[in-house]
Amino acid sequence: SIPLGLFAGIGAAGKNGVLIKGGNYLEALQKVDCVVFDKTGTLTKGSFQVVEIHAEDKEELLQLAAYAEAYSNHPIAQSIRNAYGKQIDTKRLSKYEEFAGNGVCVYFDEDELMIGNHRFMETNNINCPVFDHTGTIVYVSKNKVYLGYLVIDDEVKETSKEAIAQLKKQGVSRIVMLSGDHQKAGEALASKLELDEIYMQMLPDDKVKKVEELLEEETENGKLVFVGDGINDAPVLARADIGVAMGGIGSDAAIEAADIVLMKDDPNALAYAIHLAKETMKILN
Ligand code: ADP
Ligand code: MG
Repeated sequence: SIPLGLFAGIGAAGKNGVLIKGGNYLEALQKVDCVVFDKTGTLTKGSFQVVEIHAEDKEELLQLAAYAEAYSNHPIAQSIRNAYGKQIDTKRLSKYEEFAGNGVCVYFDEDELMIGNHRFMETNNINCPVFDHTGTIVYVSKNKVYLGYLVIDDEVKETSKEAIAQLKKQGVSRIVMLSGDHQKAGEALASKLELDEIYMQMLPDDKVKKVEELLEEETENGKLVFVGDGINDAPVLARADIGVAMGGIGSDAAIEAADIVLMKDDPNALAYAIHLAKETMKILN
């Protein structure tokens, strides 16, 4: 049975958009020592904008990219469809496949389109140059021939910096960011937000392994929180001591895997939950 005070704590949290799935998580929250954030959609808005197009035929590149991304619900895909702005005739598409943390592959009429990050091109033996940019670079290829790239920029959430400072004040000693994005994008964010560690170019499986390593480095009393937006990160949410899914675009699988769900897309809500946990435990002890 759950002590009454914990019920009160969970109730108060719920009223403020923080859904806690059990009293044990409220207890664990007061012992948080390490917070691991996913980048895209968690610390950043995940509302990407296409800011540059590089190709011989830019219009064609954007069209191919938009068709390739017709079925993806990744924020990158949405930004490309927005930039294209025209109707997509899905009858021209077939054999769609999405590779989490990498990109997508689809047939457009008779042509095989592959679009995604540099690693994805490399894996598919598509020759393309490496570009240095703090934005996300999306490479486009047709029939395994590289055609050009798009630069897509995301914005940091207004509250991310404050949330991280707050967590540090609350005694969190290690703030980590994991991302499938490239190193340059990570470094820019790390200095802006004063993150302690970043691990970039991580596939969903790498994120699970990294969280397992970080868990091993924790003492028995130090708890590890993972916070993600739910896109591709349900397995990591399940692995952490406390998995926190941010509402908004989060998938059902993520909400299922999470121990805590934040209804607002605001990293500050985690600091609030820790604060509330500490207050509730004070009353109970
Ligand atoms: P994060 O770890 O920052 O949350 P993801 O794991 O969702 O990001 O994606 C990592 C990288 O994989 C992206 O930065 C992008 O390069 C590539 N990627 C993933 N999905 C797509 C897609 N639908 N189209 C193009 N690139 C993609
Ligand atoms: Mg993500």
